[in-house]
Amino acid sequence: MTGTVTNWAGNITYTAKEVHRPPTLGALRSLVAGSARVRVLGSGHSFNEIAEPGPEGSLLSLDALPPAIDVDTTARTVRVSGGVRYAELARTVHAHGLALANMASLPHISVAGSVATGTHGSGVGNAPLAAAVREVELVTGDGRTVTIARGEERFGGAVTSLGALGVVTALTLDLEPAFEVEQHLFTELPLPGLDFETVMAAAYSVSLFTDWREPGFRQVWVKRRTDQPMPDFRWAAPATEKLHPVPGMPAVNCTEQFGVPGPWHERLPHFRAEFTPSSGAELQSEYLMPRSYAVDVLHALDALRTVMAPVVQTCEVRTVAADAQWLSPAYGRDSLAVHFTWVKDTAPVLPVVRRLEEALDAFDARPHWGKVFAMPGPVLRGRYPRLGDFKALVGELDPAGKFGNAFVQAVLDH
Ligand SMILES: Cc1cc2nc3c(=O)[nH]c(=O)nc-3n(C[C@H](O)[C@H](O)[C@H](O)COP(=O)(O)OP(=O)(O)OC[C@H]3O[C@@H](n4cnc5c(N)ncnc54)[C@H](O)[C@@H]3O)c2cc1C
Repeated sequence: MTGTVTNWAGNITYTAKEVHRPPTLGALRSLVAGSARVRVLGSGHSFNEIAEPGPEGSLLSLDALPPAIDVDTTARTVRVSGGVRYAELARTVHAHGLALANMASLPHISVAGSVATGTHGSGVGNAPLAAAVREVELVTGDGRTVTIARGEERFGGAVTSLGALGVVTALTLDLEPAFEVEQHLFTELPLPGLDFETVMAAAYSVSLFTDWREPGFRQVWVKRRTDQPMPDFRWAAPATEKLHPVPGMPAVNCTEQFGVPGPWHERLPHFRAEFTPSSGAELQSEYLMPRSYAVDVLHALDALRTVMAPVVQTCEVRTVAADAQWLSPAYGRDSLAVHFTWVKDTAPVLPVVRRLEEALDAFDARPHWGKVFAMPGPVLRGRYPRLGDFKALVGELDPAGKFGNAFVQAVLDH
C-alpha cells in the first residue's frame, strides 16, 4: 500500500517507504524476514515518532490479519491477536461474563500498541494495562515466533517494549468476573488543603480535571464499582449537568454519568466506543511521578498556570499502581500521572512542554512513551533502573536492529 499515512492526531506523517498489510501470519513472517527495518503501526494513537521506521524502513499494519479473541472462561484468560482494539475485546469478554481490571480513557486503541507504551487508566490499586498481560507472542526479525510468559526473567521487558522486540502477533490477558460501575461527577475541588490520598482512593478509579485557567479542579470523575461501598465524597459539589473533560465540549460522546450503573467497559473509559474520543484536534503529554510527591507536584503546576493555560484544553490527574515492566513509566513505584490535552499546534505547545519538564525534573518524572515530550535521552535513561536489562533483551531478540528506530535509539543509546 502507498499514500500518506499519519497518526490519529495528524501531527505525524510517517516517512516509511511503504506500508504493508499482510493478510496471513505466513505473509507477515516472510515480510519481516525480508525487511531490513520495520515498525508496526497499531491504531496510531501515539502523538510522537515512536512508530516511525524512517524513510528506509517499512510500516506494518496488522489490520488485514484475521482478528482473534479467544476467551477461556475456565482459566479466566483471553488470547487476543495483535491488531485488536480494546472496544471489540471488551465487548467479547463481557459477553462471556468476564472483565478486564481497567481501561484507558478511550476504547479505540489497539491492545498491543497500548501495552507497548505503558498505557494506563486510573485507580490507586490499578496498575497499567500491561499488568494484565500473562503471555506475549512475537514474530522476531528472522520470522520465527517467540513466546514469553509471566514468570520468565525476560518477561519484565517483553510487554512495555516500545515495539522494539518484534511484531506482537498475540497477547494473553488475565480476566476477572464482570462487574458494574457507576460514574459520579463533582465540580470545583480546591487545591489548598487537598487530601490527595483520600480523594483518589475514594473509589475504584478517580480522575481530577482542570484547564489551569482558575485555581483548583473543575471536575472530579469518580468511578465506583457497584460491589464496593458508596464513598461519601464531601470535598466537592455533585455536577448538575453531564460534562465533557474539555470545558465547552458536548458530553454526548462521554460514557454515561449521574450514577447510572453499567457494564465495566461502558464506564471505565471516559469516551464511548462509537464516537470520536476527546476533542479530536489535540496533542497530548503526560508524566508519571512517585505518588508521594503528588501534592508538591500539583502546587508546582499551579505556579505554572499562566504558562499552561493558553495552550491547554484540559489536564487530567490520575493514580497508577506500581508496575513490574522495566520500561513502564510506573515501574516500581505507585504513581501520580498528570496528563495534558494541548491545542493541536506544536509550535506554541513545545516551549510549554519544556517549561513543564523543568518544573517536574525535581520529581523524577517519567514521560508517557506515546505522547509529546522533550526530555533528552540521558535524562530518560537515568529514570529507568532496568534499562540495561531491556537493552540486553533487544540485543537477544533483535540482534540486527530490524525493529529499531530513531525514537528507540534515543532511549537506548546503542
Ligand atoms: C484520545 C486519546 C486518548 C488517550 N488516552 C490515554 C489514556 O487514558 N491513558 C494512556 O495511558 N494513554 C492514552 N492515550 C495514549 C495511547 O494509549 C497510546 O499512544 C497507545 O500507544 C496507543 O496505542 P496504538 O495502538 O494507537 O499505538 P501506536 O501509536 O500505533 O503504536 C505505539 C507503539 O506500539 C508499537 N506497536 C503497536 N502495535 C504493535 C504490535 N502488534 N507489535 C509490536 N509493536 C506494536 C508501535 O510500533 C509503536 O512503537 C490516548 C491517546 C489518544 C489519542
